Amino acid sequence: MPTELLFFGQIASIVVFLGALFGIYRSLAAQKDATIQALKEQIELLKLQLVQAQSQTPDVAVEALSRRVKLIIEELSRLQQDANATADTIVGKERELDCAKDELSQLREQVARAEKLFDGFSCPTCKAPMETREYHYESVELNGRDVDIDHEFVTYECGLALSDGREARPCGSR
Ligand SMILES: [Zn+2]
Repeated sequence: MPTELLFFGQIASIVVFLGALFGIYRSLAAQKDATIQALKEQIELLKLQLVQAQSQTPDVAVEALSRRVKLIIEELSRLQQDANATADTIVGKERELDCAKDELSQLREQVARAEKLFDGFSCPTCKAPMETREYHYESVELNGRDVDIDHEFVTYECGLALSDGREARPCGSR
């Protein structure tokens, strides 16, 4: 009888152990699902941001702002001809126009700066963006001393490759 009890006791503890293991497995699986769900949500968010970024290129923003300036100017000239428009309304519109013009010139400045910056990172022929920039170090002996020379290797999306500024592969747009 004691042997049997011991046996059932062992079975019971094994069942409890397996149950616990299954519980842990389930909670791990649930965590994994939650992680995957969170990652999916992040991807959706990034996709949204990408769409937004694409619709808000500097060109589009400058164009939208130019349109707004034009609209305000039109509205202003209408107000000036309108006998019922108060001086306050006109002054308010003029102020709005000044703000929009300021914003526009700031934006144009930013675009010009970005273009200048981009020039260093784009193909001089077709303006395709830089793809990779790598540096390789080479040890050479110079007057009995080892000197490290670094080589720059740059590739562009159009196929152009420059090795220390010299063309190693031509621009594909030509
Ligand atoms: Zn090119």
